Amino acid sequence: MKIRTRLTLLFTIITATILFIFAFVIYYSASESREKEFYSSLRKEAYTKANLFLNAQVDYKTLQEIYHNNRKTLNEVEVAIYDTTNKLLYHDAIYIDFVKETPQMLQEISDRGYLEFYQEKWQVVGVKYSYQGVDYIITAAAYDESGYNKLETLLKNCGLLFLISILFIYLAGRLFSKKTFEPLRDMINKATSISANNLDLRLSTPNKKDELFELASTFNQMLDRLERSFDAQKHFVSNISHEIRTPLSAIIAELELSMNKERSPEEYKEAIGNALLDAKKLARLSNSLLDLAKASFDTTTIAFKPVRVDEILLDARLLIQQINPAYKIDIQYDGELMVDDSDHKITVKGNEYLLKVAFMNLMENGCKFSSSHQVMVSIGASSGKLLLKFTDNGYGIAKEDITNIFTPFYRVESQASIGGNGIGLSLTQRIIQIHKGDIQVQSKPGVGSVFTVQIDHLPTS
Ligand code: ADP
Repeated sequence: MKIRTRLTLLFTIITATILFIFAFVIYYSASESREKEFYSSLRKEAYTKANLFLNAQVDYKTLQEIYHNNRKTLNEVEVAIYDTTNKLLYHDAIYIDFVKETPQMLQEISDRGYLEFYQEKWQVVGVKYSYQGVDYIITAAAYDESGYNKLETLLKNCGLLFLISILFIYLAGRLFSKKTFEPLRDMINKATSISANNLDLRLSTPNKKDELFELASTFNQMLDRLERSFDAQKHFVSNISHEIRTPLSAIIAELELSMNKERSPEEYKEAIGNALLDAKKLARLSNSLLDLAKASFDTTTIAFKPVRVDEILLDARLLIQQINPAYKIDIQYDGELMVDDSDHKITVKGNEYLLKVAFMNLMENGCKFSSSHQVMVSIGASSGKLLLKFTDNGYGIAKEDITNIFTPFYRVESQASIGGNGIGLSLTQRIIQIHKGDIQVQSKPGVGSVFTVQIDHLPTS
């Protein structure tokens, strides 16, 4: 069942219940007050007749005549008067005699002084009446026709009003819920039409700043993010193709050129050397992509264990210097870390291979982008975190480039002549994020750059 129908039904049921209780209370109190009022008028009639008969000495016949005359137009009260020996002294209409007074009934009236009860639909009162020291028992009975008619009309009116109200409430509920859910329906229709081909479409946001506005805005924000990541993916793929195509074309051109005609052994050697250089570039690119994939996909499969960061840094330095012996990498400890019991401050819970890749990128960049080919790595600790600083006195990075250097394939144009593929820093940032750490950069063109990495170290054992 749709929420709209469910809400309408719920709304109708709740209102119907309230209306029913309301109508029931009105009917019930009207019925109660009818009964009370009628007993009271019966009591008055009993006293009046007793007064007329005993006090005013109106004779039997005249009283009966009054009764008969009145009966023609209204439901006259039927009164009977007994003495204490249960002898009938007066009766309005012996032939009607609806109330059969038994000796027990008269005795009960005499004992209690007053009695009210029903005989079928007739209401009866019995009263003990004293006149000149003598007790009499009077009964008065009648059917409250007009009272019951009024009650019946009230019941009919209440029922009719109830049904009309329910119908009205149901229709109003449907209309109201239709109006409320209209923007939602529009959103659903629009959302259904959004696919990967038209991710630029957005839901229209309602004018009022209500929950639907929030829903539409949140959905649109999600689409913004999706569109951005889709675009990034597209860019990524086209960048990869470009990065692969360039060295491949160079290799092909080089080999084709040397195949064109007979060449000297030196020329062949040069061509093979150039092709090898491009092939190595390709191999590096594919390794970086593989590492990025490792760090980006299912991170739960990556093994984490306590590892000493200084040892990883030493390994990274060794590997870099094997490829580029000209690179100078100094590793220094903060004074505090020289103390014997500070091992835990140099140890983090991490993946050795990935951390080595990250540190190698930072070390290599520091050397690559400085004329001195030198980088200084300092290992420190502060408030539960291991602090690594990679400082170089190189070319530095302009302010407008700093925000982009962590984007895959981004390379500062002025340094395009220096080898690289633009994946290193994005991969490094991803690896630090996996280790729940943080990487920041401070740089000034012509002065140098400092890359600061922070990762939680192990607590004191
Ligand atoms: P790559 O080094 O392969 O070009 P990276 O992702 O490692 O790719 O770096 C992206 C860009 O950031 C580099 O091309 C370079 O312009 C800039 N960069 C990174 N590190 C430094 C640095 N230490 N000094 C100056 N520029 C840097």
